[in-house]
Parts: sequence; structure tokens; C-alpha cells
Amino acid sequence: MEGCKVKLLGWVEVKRDLGKIKFIILRDYKGKIQITIPPTSSVELAEIFNKLSREDVIAVSGVVKNTPQAPNGVEVIPSEINIINKAVSPLPLELTGKVKVELDTRLDYRILDLRTARANAIFRINNVMLITIRNFFIENDFIEVHTPKIIASATEGGTELFPVAYFDREAFLAQSPQLYKEQLTSVFEKVYEIAPVFRAEESNTTRHLSEIVMLDMEAAFQDYNDIMNFCESLLDRVFKEVIDRCQNELEVLKKNLQRPKTPYKRYSYSEVLEILSNNGVEIKWGDDIDTLALRKLGELIKEPYFIKDWPTKSKPFYISPRVDNPEVSESFDLMYGWLEIASGGTRIHKKELLINRIKEKGMRPESFDFHIKTFDWGMPPHAGCGIGLARLLMAITGLDNIREAVLFPRDRYRLTP
Ligand code: ATP
Ligand code: MG
Repeated sequence: MEGCKVKLLGWVEVKRDLGKIKFIILRDYKGKIQITIPPTSSVELAEIFNKLSREDVIAVSGVVKNTPQAPNGVEVIPSEINIINKAVSPLPLELTGKVKVELDTRLDYRILDLRTARANAIFRINNVMLITIRNFFIENDFIEVHTPKIIASATEGGTELFPVAYFDREAFLAQSPQLYKEQLTSVFEKVYEIAPVFRAEESNTTRHLSEIVMLDMEAAFQDYNDIMNFCESLLDRVFKEVIDRCQNELEVLKKNLQRPKTPYKRYSYSEVLEILSNNGVEIKWGDDIDTLALRKLGELIKEPYFIKDWPTKSKPFYISPRVDNPEVSESFDLMYGWLEIASGGTRIHKKELLINRIKEKGMRPESFDFHIKTFDWGMPPHAGCGIGLARLLMAITGLDNIREAVLFPRDRYRLTP
């Protein structure tokens, strides 16, 4: 574009005054360019340059010049610079990356933090991940659905629900689209949803938030083996696309991402207990695999893997027990090192069994009346899973804290910004 006249809009990232010659690094959503004010420029330009500070929004009119010394081999010689909006100086957050800033402080000034190369890289990878996921579901003939987030009763029981005042009644924020997506398999057969769910997580961990975006899927006439196959293909595609399309971003994050080999290993819950026991971690059959044990597994297994056939009592009521051994369920967790990425399974599609399982869990079938009655109207066998998108992003980008994988995280203590 040598010699072309351009008008650029963006943010002042750096200004450097070398006396006679002055530089601005201008940033927009696609990248950065050097604006060079040569000694021959007008006094007005120099005066405007003096007023500039970091993150001012400016308009630059000028001419493109090929310059091997400039960062991208090209610079713009301005004829006019207008300050569209001033930013305060100093800014409340150090953006150069030279000083290490605590995550909590970064989150307090999240909009500024998101302009750093690191945060930007994370969410550009997230975008490629989401595009890939949507395309994959479309290719596989799924229908995208949206289920209600204000609900009358708990999906899975438990205490993780946020109550909301709903006119003159109490309602809850949905912790999962589970029951609705199951019902929808009797209409569309294959459905998926990408939407927020809410979990009143009391504990303050690096992998739990109270509002998360969940990727939920459910398919008729499939079982948990089909869903594991599907998850594996989906993840494999995400790895491929991120590696193909996000090399610059991965470099910013210093992440050397390799595409894990398929098929991913599938261990049964009992096998995992054995692996753990051989490595000095004892877990009683039937108990959940706690954080300490997960950390141990993460040390032993680096690639994605499945833990399947969990004890029926450790899984929600809608998970199907195995026919050959009802103590064990047709369920799985998809793991990446120590991190649980997804949970899924074959669902119960027979009404009587469903009612029994609800009772066994100590809940009242009447509270699920709206759901149970749909099982009288032609419910196909079905299976599905829920993938925590921020967890997946954490795994791909190698983040230690889920808060970095969400634009505006919500946890036990954080409700702003
Ligand atoms: P965990 O055992 O890690 O608390 P879970 O088994 O309670 O998770 P599921 O109900 O299985 O969670 O939800 C499906 C997926 O959603 C999980 O595998 C995880 O990726 C994600 N997820 C669940 N709860 C949270 C949360 N509070 N914060 C972030 N991601 C979550
Ligand atoms: Mg789970």
C-alpha cells in the first residue's frame, strides 16, 4: 500500500519521543502499526503528540510508507491526528506487562486488562474454539436450542441453586439445561445449547465459578459410548483448528500446544481407583475422586482421557444404571490432566426407573412432574453431556485459574465488574 492515503482509528499503545522524530504505536482490533512523525512535520502535529497518553482514542490520517525498520515493515506518516477521546493518565492498571500485576487487580480493571496481549490471545483462541464447536454441531445435524434459565425446581437437587424472587413466588437460576434438553430429544433428536448456567459454589477454587457458559448436547438413540466418541472427535477438531489458526496467540501465551493422539484412553472408575492406589492415594469404591486425587491423576496422565462407569450413587438421578450391574452407571467424565472438562452419560428413558431413582436420591417425584409426564409421550433412549467451556479453554491455553478464561468472572466474592 506504499503511497496510499489512509485514515486509521484506534488506541495509543505507546508513544516514544526521540526529540526530532516521534513515534506512536496505534492499536486496533486487528493489530498494531507505527505512526512516525518526522522532523519535517508541522508544529501542530508535535503539539498534539505532546498531549497524547496511553489508551487515548485517536484518528490518524496519513500516507503509508514501506520501512524495513518499522515493526511490520510498514509505517504511516501522518498529516493529521485528532484526539477523539482522552484516557486518564496514569491508568489504574499497568498494561506493559513489565510489572507483574495480581489477577485480582487485573480483574478489577478487566476492560483495560483485556487489552493486554495475553488476555487478548486467550479470548481470540476462545473465539476459534466456539466457531469450531458450532460448525461441528452443524455438520453433525444438531439443532441449536435455548432452554429457560429461570426455573421452578432444582434440576439435580442439591444446594448449588441460586434462588430468585419471581413475582410472588420463589424461582431458581438453572444449574443445567439437563431436563429440557432430554425432553427435546423426543422432538429434534439431536440438540445442543451454548448458554450460561448458575452454580452457587460456596468453595473458592481455581476451577469453579458461579456463572459459567456450558456447552450441552443430547442425542436420541445414542448411548454413552457414542457420546464419548463424539466428544473425542469434537475435541480433536478444536485442537486442530486452534493449532492451525492461533499460532500467534499461542506464542503470546508461551504455549506449545500439541494435538493429543486419538483415541483418548478410557479408564473405568474402578481402574482409576487402582491407578491411584498404586500411587499411594486410596479412595473407597463409591466415593468421589477428590481434588488431591485428581492432582495425582494429572501428574500421571497428561493427555485427555475418560473416566467411565462411575458408581450409580455418585451420579445424578437421570443417569442410567448398567443393566448387567446396577451399582455401576453408564456415565463418564472427560478429563484433561487433573481438570474435569465434561460429564455425560446414557440417560434413563423409562418412567418407572426414573421415578425410583428420584426417590432413591431422597427427592420428591412430584417436583419433577412437568418432566416425568413427558416420558409417557414417546421418549427415545438418549444420551448426552455437558462441557464446561471455560474449563476447556483453560486446558487448551494452559491457564492455572478459570478466572482468566472468563471475560467477567463471577465467584463467591466477585460480583463486579
Ligand atoms: P466439578 O466436579 O468439577 O465441580 P461437576 O461434576 O459438579 O464439576 P457437572 O455438573 O458435571 O459439574 O458440569 C459439567 C461441566 O461443567 C463440568 O465437567 C465442568 O467442566 C463444568 N463446570 C461445572 N461446574 C462448574 C463451575 N462451578 N465452574 C466452572 N465450570 C464448571
Ligand atoms: Mg461432573
